[in-house]
Amino acid sequence: MKLAKRVSGIEESATLNITSKAKKMARDGLDVVSLAAGEPDFDTPAHIKAAAIKAINEGFTKYTPSSGMLELREAISKKFKNDNSLDYQASQIVVSNGAKHSLYNVFQALCEKGDEVLIPSPYWLSYPPMVSLAEATPVFIPTRKDNNFKVTEKELAAKITENTKCLILNSPSNPTGCVYDHEELKFIAKLAAKHKFFVVSDEIYEKLIYDNKKHISIASLGKEICDLTVTVNGVSKSYSMTGWRIGYAAGPSKLMNAISNLQSHAASNPASMSQKAALAALAQPQGCVEEMRVEFEKRRDIMVSRIGKIKNMSCVKPEGAFYVVCDMSKLRMGSVKLANRLLDEAKVAVIPGEPFGAESFIRLSFATSADLINKGLDRIEGWVKKNG
Ligand code: PMP
Repeated sequence: MKLAKRVSGIEESATLNITSKAKKMARDGLDVVSLAAGEPDFDTPAHIKAAAIKAINEGFTKYTPSSGMLELREAISKKFKNDNSLDYQASQIVVSNGAKHSLYNVFQALCEKGDEVLIPSPYWLSYPPMVSLAEATPVFIPTRKDNNFKVTEKELAAKITENTKCLILNSPSNPTGCVYDHEELKFIAKLAAKHKFFVVSDEIYEKLIYDNKKHISIASLGKEICDLTVTVNGVSKSYSMTGWRIGYAAGPSKLMNAISNLQSHAASNPASMSQKAALAALAQPQGCVEEMRVEFEKRRDIMVSRIGKIKNMSCVKPEGAFYVVCDMSKLRMGSVKLANRLLDEAKVAVIPGEPFGAESFIRLSFATSADLINKGLDRIEGWVKKNG
């Protein structure tokens, strides 16, 4: 069968590869420790589950407006106002099947052939294929470990051309955990306004932020940058709701209307009961978010301190999200090979940096218990001692 060119260049992600191999090993009875998780290990809080069960029992099981039910978009509008000082009307918000779907919609609506999309690297591995599927060209901006993997004004300015359509900003970042501060967001906003490119601001890890840092939405820096930004967020990570598939995007009306039309033909609406669950998550007390955040911060500290004691391994302390990117360059081995060997020989699943644009790095997740973090790092330490 001859497939469309659009999909023939897209490969299965190396992340799925390694995690399915690890799962198979565990099924075969091997004691594998996974530091590969891309989702919180907590259960979805009970009051959120109860809202969905109530919705089902009450027959709230039919189509909703394709951009999401009004009550939910109003709750999101309120959340933007209270948490992020953003003034988005409900009509400027589209709820989709996860933030991934929101981002996919954004690139489909915004980009076309000839457009360049700036992506600071390391990056979340789904950005480049999403950009390519919109026929635009990803342009990577390598960042440096000694600058906490954040793009500088000079590095960003050097990659801007007349074809630059947008920049993907992911703060806090997957995989690096870096968080952009006010001054850094200011220079990004200044360059976007000067060169008239868009900022796609992926804020999905907003609530998982440490050391008393505060998340800042770039669109809150002023009207000019707000008109050039689409803010993407969702409930997956903050409320441990990855399986419910609710994400959302907000931005200028013209763009959001186009996204709403696109989604109406591609997906209709996100699941009605998931929307009710997301409404409960956003509109009810937020204690559960802080409980999970505090636990993640403790685990991060354990992981970072353990890595700091391993010869030939180093990392930058992440300020957000739940991943630690480890520099393994001293082992002189490609990251995919390294991840496979760690799995086969040390029985620890880690994610290779290569699909994130970070070839000499591996990504460890602390979305697992402190005991398993310690057990996994005992094994990695032993293996690195032997092979370093
Ligand atoms: N952006 C980033 C940076 C992510 O890491 C993820 C999930 N891994 C998403 C977006 C997608 O989130 P969702 O599950 O809501 O689609």
